[in-house]
Amino acid sequence: MSSNTETSFKLLPAIEKLLQATRLQAVIEGYGHDSVKLEARSQLQVLREAIVQQNQDALDWLTTDNFFDELCHKIEEAVRTQFSSSLIPVFNLTGTVVHTNLGRAKLPQIAIEAIITAATQATNLEYDLESGKRGDRDSHLEQALCNITGAESATVVNNNAAAVVLVLNTLAFRQEVPISRGELVEIGGAFRIPDVMNSAGCHLKEVGTTNRTHMKDYVNAINDNTALVMKVHTSNYKIKGFTNSVSESELAQLAREKDIPFISDLGSGTLIDLKQFGLPYEPTVKEVLDSGANVVTFSGDKLLGGPQAGIIVGSRELITRIKQNPLKRALRIDKITLAALLEVINLYKDPQRLAERLPLLADLTRSPAAIEETGNKILPHLQDKLAGWAKVTLGSCKSQIGSGALPLDLLESRALIIEPIAAKGETDAHLLGIARSMRALPMPVIGRISDGKLLFDLRCLRDINYFVEQLDLIQLGVLED
Ligand SMILES: *Cc1c(COP(=O)(O)O)cnc(C)c1O
Repeated sequence: MSSNTETSFKLLPAIEKLLQATRLQAVIEGYGHDSVKLEARSQLQVLREAIVQQNQDALDWLTTDNFFDELCHKIEEAVRTQFSSSLIPVFNLTGTVVHTNLGRAKLPQIAIEAIITAATQATNLEYDLESGKRGDRDSHLEQALCNITGAESATVVNNNAAAVVLVLNTLAFRQEVPISRGELVEIGGAFRIPDVMNSAGCHLKEVGTTNRTHMKDYVNAINDNTALVMKVHTSNYKIKGFTNSVSESELAQLAREKDIPFISDLGSGTLIDLKQFGLPYEPTVKEVLDSGANVVTFSGDKLLGGPQAGIIVGSRELITRIKQNPLKRALRIDKITLAALLEVINLYKDPQRLAERLPLLADLTRSPAAIEETGNKILPHLQDKLAGWAKVTLGSCKSQIGSGALPLDLLESRALIIEPIAAKGETDAHLLGIARSMRALPMPVIGRISDGKLLFDLRCLRDINYFVEQLDLIQLGVLED
């Protein structure tokens, strides 16, 4: 070791001295002695390596007057970062209201309060207060779900993917399930009907063709080893043109004749007719049951606007078998989700006030005029902050519901439209740079890029004041990659 290196080593403070520094007492108090010690040790190790490698920046820093203070500051920052959650709120200005990557539905206040109660106190989750004996977790939701859908019985699991796996595994294990080739859907995030069938232990029997499937295709597909007939709602795409599919009621009739169940995976699934809110029509769970489906599965956090959950409704006999499957225990809904879902389902009992009480519906039904008003309040501030970087205007755009629901039905909306001011050939880098700067804000702003422009669809923006306030912190730069 050179004497130079040894001299530098001597400039490094002892770990005990660091831990006694006034500067670090607050962070020790906040996060504990051990975490600060661990971080201090690792920072000192980094410095030792830098010294061995004769890193000039590090060697210079060591000899400055502020070195000790700055090192403490670095340790403090690192510890605070370690403890800060990586899960943070963002502004969803993508124009996709139910955005799977951004957490889907925002819950109503009443559900939040129920979550707090369920999380902080013992509850009668699985306890029958009358008999003093073990109760059933499903009992809390079952009646409300049956009332609203007309089903005889109901159960709830972790998400709709789990619901589909559970239903198939219970009713069709090692047996065949005919499904139309036009319904072999893939939902984002690796949910593909053929793979789901496989993991549930069922044999998929493809029926018909991509664009046309007829009753005779189903009839020909059914044999002694057919467990049930299944229909999957093609929520995230539509097949147009020369098409044919067999309706729910026809399939239900066929299944009845063959004495096998008919099940329908609705995907998004809505409890009430959305047309009353000026939204596009989507079959309700009740309608599908009325048309003869024996079991229907749907999501709690898509069109329903609740927490992530998978809801299974249907005949008492089939739901009883589903509840008895050991997989049900593995896929069961958690108490916090259950508390929230209960409140969301309750809101549906009063459809007149649903649009003001359910955040998802409030966003979906927000008028272009109201969105424009938000835009007018923000526009001058964003123009000011991006002056010289981009031209910002307020214009029309279309929002979509998202999560596969009603993909072709777009909602009229308003967006801030950002066009970079840059030399030809550099506009993309500028645009990506602005998008990244907006994502780097304390509450990241997430828009969408379309046609060389960055769009902030304002449909879901509520906190105008905070949006404007944090614009002061924007640090613009060009993306160089
Ligand atoms: C979304 C969807 C699922 C999966 O639901 P998750 O709640 O996301 O697990 C299953 N089937 C269909 C048809 C869907 O649209």
